[in-house]
Amino acid sequence: MTELAARTGVAIHLATKDELVVTNTYGQQVVDTWALAADDVSRFASASHTWMSTGRLTVRLGDELVDTTRTPMLAIVGDTSGGRHDLLIPSCDVVRYRQLGVPGYHDNCRDNYFAALSAADIEPLPVVPQPLNLFMRVPVAADGSIGIEPPVAGPGAQVRLRALQDVVVVLSACPQDIAPTNGLGATPRPVEYDVVRAP
Ligand SMILES: [Zn+2]
Repeated sequence: MTELAARTGVAIHLATKDELVVTNTYGQQVVDTWALAADDVSRFASASHTWMSTGRLTVRLGDELVDTTRTPMLAIVGDTSGGRHDLLIPSCDVVRYRQLGVPGYHDNCRDNYFAALSAADIEPLPVVPQPLNLFMRVPVAADGSIGIEPPVAGPGAQVRLRALQDVVVVLSACPQDIAPTNGLGATPRPVEYDVVRAP
């Protein structure tokens, strides 16, 4: 297992059929997750195309995230977290923390996305795709209103993702420490990940 330090991000190459296991080491830690085609950063796992494909606003075990050409890109092949994930909320950024009353800089998933790709020598588009927010709990009420509630994922909960194309996956251990995104304690934690290469 490799640790992803609290508040940081990483980019990971996965060949087709490779799997990535993300472990919520301490529980309740949200992990913003993106997937880009390894040979074309303009093709990425798309929330809105996935809503159309699954007929739901979120994903669960057995679902596939599709890319901007509606081609399957990433499958959820294992999940011991309680199955609550979010596909609606944009990654946090400096503006969001300013709105929450933070006057100066605050670590954020948007900057983690760009830093992780830069460290991997990948130049992404200047916009951040809608992430799959693993372990994030965003209930949608009948009237369409949404909330942010503490995750149900316990310590050691795992999600296993299988690449259905050659992709670069970016993970960000969300640095949110004001809203209850990462639990009522609002304490960002490290997570762990493993890459299982296809035989
Ligand atoms: Zn975040």
